[in-house]
Amino acid sequence: MREELDSLLCEKYPLLFKDRNADMRTTAMCWGFAHGDGWFNIIDTLCWHLHAGYDRAKSNHNYLVSRLGKSHFGDSNKNIVVQEDIDESKAKMDAEAELVPTVVQVKEKFGTLRFYIHAGTDAHYNYISFAESMSGVTCETCGKPGKRLGRGWIYTACEEHAEDDDWADSLATYEEE
Ligand SMILES: [Zn+2]
Repeated sequence: MREELDSLLCEKYPLLFKDRNADMRTTAMCWGFAHGDGWFNIIDTLCWHLHAGYDRAKSNHNYLVSRLGKSHFGDSNKNIVVQEDIDESKAKMDAEAELVPTVVQVKEKFGTLRFYIHAGTDAHYNYISFAESMSGVTCETCGKPGKRLGRGWIYTACEEHAEDDDWADSLATYEEE
């Protein structure tokens, strides 16, 4: 995937991609996103879900910091935000950060996306499984609806990006390894 999109994902989801530039002996993420630009939206949406718990906790924490000594909402004298509320929201944010998985490799294989993480929850793996399936119906080059094609070399493409005589035959959308 082109550098600009790679950087955008790393900026939006720093916890997921904290190993983006780590040593190749510890992660395959140093190779970047080894697939075409057409899957950017799938990955961006997947990452949003994997990062959402932390992002929610962070925005709540930032909000409380901005309201210290004032009411939780509006100009009332009730429900004043105290330091304890801020400490609590910080602890919640730190706990959520721990739950965000670290991505170890993102690549194309047999025409579909493979998104590998270190230590995820069942929910994380369900999101990943769905994203991987969506890649089997999405052109890897341009992102338009596509299908899995080819024989020796299997890839997912729209009609425009299919090799000349592949379009008539398509393979199963997604196969478990
Ligand atoms: Zn295409």
